[in-house]
Order: sequence, then structure tokens, then C-alpha cells
Amino acid sequence: MLAEIQYEQALHGIDPTLAAVKRKREEQLEKWGTQDHDPEMWYAILGEEFGEVGKEIAEGRIKPFDKAKYRKECLHTAAVALAMVQCVDDGIA
Ligand SMILES: [Mg+2]
Repeated sequence: MLAEIQYEQALHGIDPTLAAVKRKREEQLEKWGTQDHDPEMWYAILGEEFGEVGKEIAEGRIKPFDKAKYRKECLHTAAVALAMVQCVDDGIA
């Protein structure tokens, strides 16, 4: 029963999070235009964003952890991953 409740709570919270990822994806499109990279380039872009997540975590060990910056970089990473999937689904990558 507890697992079902937690599952429902997780699903309830997914829509605003997905909306935030979509907004970030829209911002990336406005900033960079259409991105039709090959898998190697996408991997590099994703690695850069993922590295920024790690940087925020590491900096949280020497000064107060900045949850807003951490969330921002997680959002960047998710938006890039979404674009990667879109490229595959669109037959580009
Ligand atoms: Mg970033």
C-alpha cells in the first residue's frame, strides 16, 4: 500500500517537472536553433551539462550547497537528454 501511495505521489509530481524540462528545451531551441547533432556531439554536450551537475555537488562540499543551481544543471541535463531522444525518434541521429 505504501509503495502504491509513493508511486502515485511520484506520478502526480511528474507533470510540472516535465513541463520545466520542455520549457528549458524551448529556451535551448531559441538560443541555439535546431540541433541535429550526431551521437558523438550529443554525448559531448550531455557530458558538459552532466559535468556541471557534478560541479555543483562538489562545490557544495566547500561552501553551502546551492540547491537552485544544482536543480538548474539537472534541468539542463534532462533537456539535452530529451533532445537526444528526439533526434533518434526523428531519424536524425
Ligand atoms: Mg548547464
